[in-house]
Amino acid sequence: MSTEIVLQLENVSKTFRIGFFRKKVEAVRQVSFEIQRGEIFGLVGPNGAGKSTSIKMITGLLQPDSGEVRVFGESVANVALRKRIGYLPENPVLYEHLKAPELLDFYGGLVGLSKKVRRKRAQELLELVGLGDALDRPIGKFSKGMKQRAGIAQALINDPELVILDEPQSGLDPIGRREIRDLVVELRRQGKTILFCSHILPDVEDICDRVALIHQGTVVEVGFLHELIGTDVLRYEIFARGWSDELSTALGDAIEEIVAVGEVRRLTLRGDVDLDDALATITRLGARVESLQPHRENLEDIFVRDTKAAPVKKQPVSVAQ
Ligand code: ADP
Ligand code: MG
Repeated sequence: MSTEIVLQLENVSKTFRIGFFRKKVEAVRQVSFEIQRGEIFGLVGPNGAGKSTSIKMITGLLQPDSGEVRVFGESVANVALRKRIGYLPENPVLYEHLKAPELLDFYGGLVGLSKKVRRKRAQELLELVGLGDALDRPIGKFSKGMKQRAGIAQALINDPELVILDEPQSGLDPIGRREIRDLVVELRRQGKTILFCSHILPDVEDICDRVALIHQGTVVEVGFLHELIGTDVLRYEIFARGWSDELSTALGDAIEEIVAVGEVRRLTLRGDVDLDDALATITRLGARVESLQPHRENLEDIFVRDTKAAPVKKQPVSVAQ
């Protein structure tokens, strides 16, 4: 099966100049990655890493200083291509006095849909994002999660092939986050390609096919999640009853940590122990294992490691103060 590249960034850089002395902020430095049709691509990185700046260059809101952004194989400077992109900005501004169908009708008009088409599209989209029951309320009265979903519906009004969501889960409770996550998966099921920028790393890990980790304007990792994460067990977590000091001695330095929770012991075993041996010892000495969980490296571990290891960018000395 051939893969089609929907979006490609090649050595893209952007520097801002701020303040009276035009101090340089290198927001994005030589960033390259590509997104294939039909995938959910995660863009992750700490605050200020350059995610939103990269996204703005993809949507054509900002011009790169150097490098190239190609969407559907063509330069993003080609305005017609932008019609094939749907974009939810980081802090979307919605017209709060409008009701959701009016909002979508307005944006549908802007992209040139006929009255009939946009009414039908609005109805379908509001069902899709789970706002089918909130048609009579002004958006100003929506919860944060509902507003985000209205924003996503707005981004989908022109039935885009590439959907770009910049932190759609920020400020949401677990239920709101899950709704967005499920919606993104549904969009992929419908055949859309999604660039998903989020701080909720377990969700990124759960739904993204590939990720780029960006730190201080530079891509430090990019690839399939299963390749980045690997399969080595870092540690085992075991809950056991009937523990004795004898057992602690027998297991020796295989134990990283042991915590008493009433009758139960929660112990952490090193990832490289012979698990069969350890379990046999535990049983032989009269304890009972109630649960056992291997912990492998997750996206958060990679994130923490990479954002610590990368060299700290030298801050330009401010002469303003
Ligand atoms: P992220 O979205 O990953 O949090 P941003 O792309 O918003 O990061 O910002 C990257 C860096 O660029 C930050 O240091 C930020 O302060 C700076 N920056 C972003 N936009 C502007 C701007 N319009 N003018 C000056 N500096 C900016
Ligand atoms: Mg941002």
